[in-house]
Formats: sequence, structure tokens, C-alpha cells
Amino acid sequence: MTEATALLSLQDLDIRLLKCASTLAAMPQRARLRTIDLARKKVSSELTRIVGQRKDAELEIADIRENLAHYHAKTAEVQAAADEGQHTHREIRDFEQQLTSLAKRIEKCEFALGPAQERLGRLARAERNARLTAERLDSERDATQALLDADSKSLRAEIIDLTHRRERAAAQVSEAHLAAYEVARKRFKGLAVERLTGNVPSVCRVRLQPSSFHDLAHGDEITECPYCHRILITSEEVEGE
Ligand SMILES: [Zn+2]
Repeated sequence: MTEATALLSLQDLDIRLLKCASTLAAMPQRARLRTIDLARKKVSSELTRIVGQRKDAELEIADIRENLAHYHAKTAEVQAAADEGQHTHREIRDFEQQLTSLAKRIEKCEFALGPAQERLGRLARAERNARLTAERLDSERDATQALLDADSKSLRAEIIDLTHRRERAAAQVSEAHLAAYEVARKRFKGLAVERLTGNVPSVCRVRLQPSSFHDLAHGDEITECPYCHRILITSEEVEGE
């Protein structure tokens, strides 16, 4: 393979690789995976929020229960003191006031406990649902990924094959021409190399003036098109190449 042929082959392989990559990117499972990932992120942040609220609700209930236990113990203590021995009227009134105040606090706690438990129940259900949704999305993701892997198997094999062939073609091109090719490839979006057919370059198709055609024909086989500045192969294609 001459360097000129290797350069043209490099361009052909790069165009085919680009096509494979865009076919791969356009596979419907890719779009499905993106949708699943977005939904999964949403569920994750939702779950974080619900778990935070559920822990708050648990703390609130624990607080109420602790207060209840404290007021019940205090009530038993006051009751025991009241039952013990003789007391003045004033002492008895004090005991009664304390017991009334404690009873009110106990009532307030019990009143708060119901709604707090309901809230906790709601949050626990929401958490369970969010976890189920997350599990469902995870298995859907795995299934979609497996489908994508199976459907893209031949395409991925082709990409590997083209990549190896590209490496072999690139090895036949000088470092300077390879660097020029990489620059031109970006500039011309893939079509970086053209070849003369008669006195017409194959991509820009601007007929060369007789004088520049003469100069190019007697110069290097790999040069630059005077019009479009692509890499120009001045030798004509040989049958069977
Ligand atoms: Zn040109």
C-alpha cells in the first residue's frame, strides 16, 4: 500500500467509523436508557426527601412518648406524696393543681400522638413505593442495557474491526502527513483528502489551470489542493486498488 492509498483508506475508514458511531448513538435503547436514568435520579432525590421526613416523624413520636412517660411518672410521684400521711388544705390544693396540670399535659401529648403516627404511616408508605419504583427502574435499566448490548453486538464488532484497520492504515502514513490529515479532517468535517481525476480534484471539483496541473503532476504525490486546501493525491486511481 502506497502512502497515498493508505491516506485515502484512512479517510474511508474514519468516515465509516463516524457512521457506525452515529448509528450506535441513535439506537432507540440509548434514548430509553437516558429516560430511565433521569427517572431514577428523580426517584433517588424524592427518596432522600421522604427518608428525611420519615426520620423526623419518628423522632417526633419518640419525643412525645418520652414526654408522656415523664408526665405519667411525675403523676404517680405526686399521687404517692398526696396519699402519704396528713396534709394541710393548702398542701392538698397544691397536689390537686399539680395533678390537673400534669393531666392536661398528658392529654396534649396524646392528642398530638395520633396525627404524628398517621404522618409516619403516610411517609412509610411513600418510602416503600419510592423504593419499589427505584427497583423497577433498576431492573428496567438492566434489561434495556442487555437489549442494547445484544442489538449492537455486530455494530460494535464492526467498530473494533474498522479501528484495527485504521491503525494499520495510519502506520503507513508519515507523521507529518498524519498530522496534516488530522487538522484537515476537523476542518473539512471528514472529507480531508481528494484525488485528481484528470485535472479535476475529486471533492472540490475545481478544474486545475494547465500551469498548476503541470507543477502538481511533477511534484509530490501527496500535496495540497490550491483551491480548497484539502490534501490532494496527484496520482490517478489504479485499477483494482
Ligand atoms: Zn480541492
